[in-house]
Amino acid sequence: MAMSKGTSHYNRQVWEDESFPILCQTCLGENPYLRVMKERYGSECKICSRPFTTFRWCPGAKMRYKKTEICQTCSRAKNICQTCLLDLQYGLPVQVRDQILGTKQDVPKSEINREYYSQMLDISVQNSDSTEAYGALKDAPSSEVLAKLARTAPFYKRNRPHICSFWVKGECKRGEECPYRHEKPSDPEDPLSDQNIKDRYFGVNDPVAEKLLKRASELPRPVPPEDKSICTLYIGNVNEEIDEQNLRDYFYQFGEIRSINVVRKSNCAFVQFTTRTAAESAINQSFQKLVINGTRLAIRWGKSQGKRKEDEEEQERLGSSTKLQKVAAIPGLPHLAVVPSITHLKIQVEWEHSVSNNIKRIKNYIILSSFEKYVI
Ligand SMILES: [Zn+2]
Ligand SMILES: [Zn+2]
Ligand SMILES: [Zn+2]
Repeated sequence: MAMSKGTSHYNRQVWEDESFPILCQTCLGENPYLRVMKERYGSECKICSRPFTTFRWCPGAKMRYKKTEICQTCSRAKNICQTCLLDLQYGLPVQVRDQILGTKQDVPKSEINREYYSQMLDISVQNSDSTEAYGALKDAPSSEVLAKLARTAPFYKRNRPHICSFWVKGECKRGEECPYRHEKPSDPEDPLSDQNIKDRYFGVNDPVAEKLLKRASELPRPVPPEDKSICTLYIGNVNEEIDEQNLRDYFYQFGEIRSINVVRKSNCAFVQFTTRTAAESAINQSFQKLVINGTRLAIRWGKSQGKRKEDEEEQERLGSSTKLQKVAAIPGLPHLAVVPSITHLKIQVEWEHSVSNNIKRIKNYIILSSFEKYVI
């Protein structure tokens, strides 16, 4: 069959040939020393269908081999892992993240538009310094709700082998030797079980996302204090970027403000309304979505004077855990002059322990051995 050389040459220029994968900590596994097989243009991206350089590795003893499923352009566009497609910062499905942060980016679903979109994206990704998330996510403030929904540690169980279908039917004769798991097939925690990869990517009809969003809606709501004389709201995470006027500009829409007191040393503020109704409507409409000058602020009912001190202390404690780190991407290492079509890389992975200690991110990859040809 004749192939148009022109087009294939043209396209090849935008095919991806990266030195390292973009992965979440769970997919990489526990061991900081990894042996990774790299295959240049190893398969088609499951989202944009363009050939890309694939990586395959075993994330730990008794784990199944994993490989990258989508290209880096698609992965960067959404700031997700190339293998599990979960958000790199929070480890949550795209649908959950975008709904809570309000950062849904429209990626064209028709093939021609998508090719154009991908090429434009390639250009902007190349032009960016690639140390932070691309697009709307770059400016999205960190979210307490997402931090609450996020796993507090990598979930290595997700890398286990799949369940042995023969064993389930009582027919597996391989016993101990069987590489598959001999367990009952109930693994609701596996975010990729029974899921369509494109739905997950585009953030639609994702059953896991729906479950998590339900959980988010059930997170505790602010309970109005019984003491009806309390008309004060506590605002947390107030940094230097935010002053009294910013708070006034936002809160005046709910009713007359009696006073605003910004407590710099505790990064918080107290907004007192003249009526209880105003305070109630302010908290109900701002809870978990209060963003001023790009900073996400906490909002709670104020307490009586005596309790304020405790409140401030608590905020100091919380403050450090809500300042989630911006996404650190894989540093763009120079391409090597000769790259065999399939290579074995040994890489060391260093985890960045963020302030909250629950979001661990890949900081660096270091090549330990030189490239060696992998012979099949
Ligand atoms: Zn792609
Ligand atoms: Zn992953
Ligand atoms: Zn078996």
